[in-house]
Amino acid sequence: MAAAGLWHRVGRLPEMAPALGRWPRAYSTPPAFAEVLRLPPKQLTKVVYPLRELERHLVADADPGLIERRLFDPSLEDLARAESVFAATARNRIEYLSSAVRLDHAPSLQQPEVCFIGRSNVGKSSLIKALFSQAPDVEVRISKKPGHTKKMNFFKVGKYFTLVDMPGYGYRAPEDFVDMVEAYLKERKNLKRTFLLVDSVVGITEVDNIAIEMCEEFALPYVMILTKIDKSSKGYLFKQVLQIQKFVNTQTQGCFPQLFPVSAVTYFGIHLLKCFIADITGSLK
Ligand code: GDP
Repeated sequence: MAAAGLWHRVGRLPEMAPALGRWPRAYSTPPAFAEVLRLPPKQLTKVVYPLRELERHLVADADPGLIERRLFDPSLEDLARAESVFAATARNRIEYLSSAVRLDHAPSLQQPEVCFIGRSNVGKSSLIKALFSQAPDVEVRISKKPGHTKKMNFFKVGKYFTLVDMPGYGYRAPEDFVDMVEAYLKERKNLKRTFLLVDSVVGITEVDNIAIEMCEEFALPYVMILTKIDKSSKGYLFKQVLQIQKFVNTQTQGCFPQLFPVSAVTYFGIHLLKCFIADITGSLK
C-alpha cells in the first residue's frame, strides 16, 4: 500500500489534525495512535510499517519476493480499533493478574492467550511495556540485569485475551525452560499464538534456535518479532531482516512468514503488532 493509499484511508477517520512533522528519535512518553495519524504519510508509513521502509533496498536484491510484508495488512481503522483494545478504561480493564513458576500454578482462564518468549535482554519487558503504554496502571518490570523475569506473568486485557510474559531464557536455562516454558508451550490449551523475540542487532542465536525448535516440535503457530530496530543503520537492519526472513522461509513450518520489526524506544512497529495481536485473538470482531 502506497503512502497515498494510506492517506485515503486516514481520510475516513475522525479527528483529523494537521501534520505533526518529524517523529522524534526517542519518546519519553509513548504516543497514542491519534498522534501517529497526524504524521505526514511518509513518516506514518515508517512508524507503523517499518518493514516497508526497507522495501527500497529490495530493488537491488535478487529475490524481491523474499520479504512477506503484506500478509497482515490492516487498515488504519483496524489499527485504531486495536489501539482501543489496548487502552485501559473503566470498561476495559487491563491489569496484571498473577505470576506462576509452574504451569499448574497458572490461572485457569478461558479467554485466548498469547505469550512472549525470548532470551534474556532481548527487550521483552520493554516491548510489553510499550504494548501497554495506554494502560499506565499496568506495571511491567524492566530488568537491569539479565535473567530478571523468572516467572510467567499473566496480564488480562479486558474481556479480550491474556498476555503472558514468559521467563527469559539463556540465563539459568535449562531449568526455567523445562519447568516453565516447555510445559507451558506444550500444554496450555488456550494459547493462541507464541511471539518469539529475536534481537535484530544480534540475529538468531543458538538459544533462539532451541526455542524455535521447541515451537516447531510442538507444532505451535508462532511469530517472530525483531526487537531494537532503532539501534542499527538501515543497511545493517536490512541485511539482518533478509537473513532472518530467509531462515523463516526455508527452515520453519509453524512460523508466520511475516516478520514484525519493533522498537520500544521509537515505537516503530508497535501499533501494527497491537493490531496483529488483537486480530488473532478475535478482539476486533
Ligand atoms: P528483557 O530481559 O528481554 O525483558 O529485556 P529488557 O526489556 O529489560 O531490555 C534489555 C535492555 O535493552 C534494556 O537496557 C533496554 O533498555 C534495552 N532495550 C529494550 N528494547 C529496546 C529497543 O527497542 N531499543 C533500544 N535501543 N534498546 C532497547
